[in-house]
Amino acid sequence: MKYKELVEIYEKLEKTSKRLEKTFIISEFLKKIKKEDLEEIINLLRGNVFPVWEEKKIGVSEKLVIKSISRIAGINDKEIEKKWAKIGDLGKVAEELIKNKKQTSLEEKELNLNKVFENLRKLASLEGEGTVDKKVGLISELLSNAQPIEARYIVRTILEDLRIGVAESTLRDAIVWAYLGKELKIKYINENLELEDRKNYDFIIERTQYNYDLCNDFVEVAKNIIEYGIDFHKKTKLSGGKPINVMLYPKAESIEDGFKSVGKPAAIEQKYDGFRLLLIKYKGKINLFTRRLENVTKQFPDIVMLTEEQIKGDDFILDSETIAVNSNGQWLPFQALSQRIKRKYDIQDIIKKIPIIIRIFDVVKYNNENLMEKPFIERRKLLEKIVKKSNKFDIAEQIITDNLEEAKKFYEKSLISGNEGIMMKDLNGKYQPGRRVGYGVKIKPILETLDLIIVAAEWGTGKRSKWLSSFTLSTIDKESFLEIGKVGTGIKEKSEEGVSFKELTRLLKPLIIEEKGRIVKLKPKIVVEVAYEEIQKSTTYTSGFALRFPRILGIKEDRRPKDVNDITSINNIFIKQRNRFIK
Ligand code: AMP
Repeated sequence: MKYKELVEIYEKLEKTSKRLEKTFIISEFLKKIKKEDLEEIINLLRGNVFPVWEEKKIGVSEKLVIKSISRIAGINDKEIEKKWAKIGDLGKVAEELIKNKKQTSLEEKELNLNKVFENLRKLASLEGEGTVDKKVGLISELLSNAQPIEARYIVRTILEDLRIGVAESTLRDAIVWAYLGKELKIKYINENLELEDRKNYDFIIERTQYNYDLCNDFVEVAKNIIEYGIDFHKKTKLSGGKPINVMLYPKAESIEDGFKSVGKPAAIEQKYDGFRLLLIKYKGKINLFTRRLENVTKQFPDIVMLTEEQIKGDDFILDSETIAVNSNGQWLPFQALSQRIKRKYDIQDIIKKIPIIIRIFDVVKYNNENLMEKPFIERRKLLEKIVKKSNKFDIAEQIITDNLEEAKKFYEKSLISGNEGIMMKDLNGKYQPGRRVGYGVKIKPILETLDLIIVAAEWGTGKRSKWLSSFTLSTIDKESFLEIGKVGTGIKEKSEEGVSFKELTRLLKPLIIEEKGRIVKLKPKIVVEVAYEEIQKSTTYTSGFALRFPRILGIKEDRRPKDVNDITSINNIFIKQRNRFIK
């Protein structure tokens, strides 16, 4: 297949902001493509060449791309940077420069989809000496054969910023429309979705999402549906060593409400203030994933060893929390763990400096058996059997009770020992991946902090002119970001004191997508924990809310943009807080 055919789809998708139309465009395209191109196309539609959890990343900097464009267009780096600052999109810069170049040269070869995919994958596997030249070589090879419009998307894919607005849910629906459209009698007419059986359609979409939650791989989902048709969900299984989307827990306002949600008696556990980790062993090999599906196996050889030594079995998925401790064994706040996650070298040193402990709280798969449908109490019993306990590596502390006083005591004890609160869990609850379903709830003291995403920032002035110093925070509403305020406090001058301007600038600079004066627009990637005095109604920000005295407490490396506090949860806190003031 020609790369041009995919590029035509990219263009159509970029031109519309309507979700249904995007779904239609993709589904019509998927219907046409050959089976052997499926993997490449599905990945490239998401702007990647691997599933999200793959350790390998394209990992090419803007600088390198500029170098490659410069080589092909015969224009120096500085000129390209200037154009980039003006247009704000290196893809479009490449497009324009190649257009100019093409007018003067005749040579032309049509780019093949496989060739593009192959070079992009090679970019991800290059390591060691001479890498920079090889990378520039691979990119230049593609650009020299690309039509201007193809160059736009090649560059954007390399920078992992495709800008065609295809959300996970859009691709999911498009797969259903493409391969089950006939069975479900899906009709897309006049920009409307017409269904004869909405209930069945919703059911199939829900099962498709479930399938995705089990593997985080749309290629696997599409192949399942193609192979098994409308009954694919009966065959859906937990396959291989792929990470699942973890189960999430809604919040309960009090222990009484908690009992109402999960029933009596309930399992009550400490809510450890650490970092969620999936411990996955498949074919004897252990991999560790965060809840945002980053593979952190290399950063935690200590956890790999403990898992190897203290869990019986060769095939499992366990859900756990990792907590950092100091040399006296006291638990440290979340920030300490961030250092462990970021560290890519001298791992042994940092293992000694910031030791960790693990508390396992669920088992999802064991010896090739999917346990998600089994009651929680049985899963817990299995944990008791397969975990060899030690101080460092244990299962979550738990009581089972129907007694309010006993539960309250456990909550207090949990808070005193430095935990965030408690979890209350339904003894008969399933494990529902990727959802807040109420098989378990969390309870923590009000007013809670918010997880928000940084979407814009401002360069500082005076001695802070090298740093981004004011940050615009957003909440989400489904897939769109809504601003809720600006924050410049809580950030430190020196990194030893906490999150520093320098660190935030380092993290955010590569995410700049547009620069106007001192204001920069950012790719929504960095999630921060924010404390505040009060949430107020406001017409200044698109969310309709503003935060009084916001301050950044830390960076939440384990959160994805879609995991932040959404507008509904902010509205709930707003109402709750108003009631608090009235009382
Ligand atoms: P929150 O981060 O406030 O949404 O609370 C849910 C998180 O608490 C989970 O994602 C886990 O990372 C963490 N957690 C700590 N202890 C437990 C536990 N015993 N059971 C389940 N989750 C826990």
